[in-house]
Amino acid sequence: MNIDSIKNGIVLDHISAGKSMRVYDSLNLDELDCSVAIIKNVKSQKMGRKDIIKIDNDFEIDLDVLGYIDPNITVSYIKDGITVEKKKLALPETITNVEVCKNPRCITSVETSLPQTFKLVDKENHVYRCVYCESRIAK
Ligand SMILES: [Zn+2]
Repeated sequence: MNIDSIKNGIVLDHISAGKSMRVYDSLNLDELDCSVAIIKNVKSQKMGRKDIIKIDNDFEIDLDVLGYIDPNITVSYIKDGITVEKKKLALPETITNVEVCKNPRCITSVETSLPQTFKLVDKENHVYRCVYCESRIAK
């Protein structure tokens, strides 16, 4: 795979340096059978250092998960070597089954079939709270 140019696929750019593995794991990119290139610590005029992930195939990305990890990531869709679409991300209002509530008294630790849902309560500081017990996600 030529990592400089992909014909059909997706490029995740402007990932905060060091977060690419978290993105890789959260999007289950290890389950893809196409080439995936992770480029770490790329010099960026805007950000100093950044990570880039190139996926040599088109697939459905969970943009909420991506936005939760890092809302500054840009997603480019490449077709026949040309960028056909660019998406900017935002912090999602809710996330489901991305984080696990750590409160031992939370209903989700008893009722394990319940979805682990967290709600954005403070956009400025990226604070999410459990919808059941209000515990905040410990970063
Ligand atoms: Zn909880």
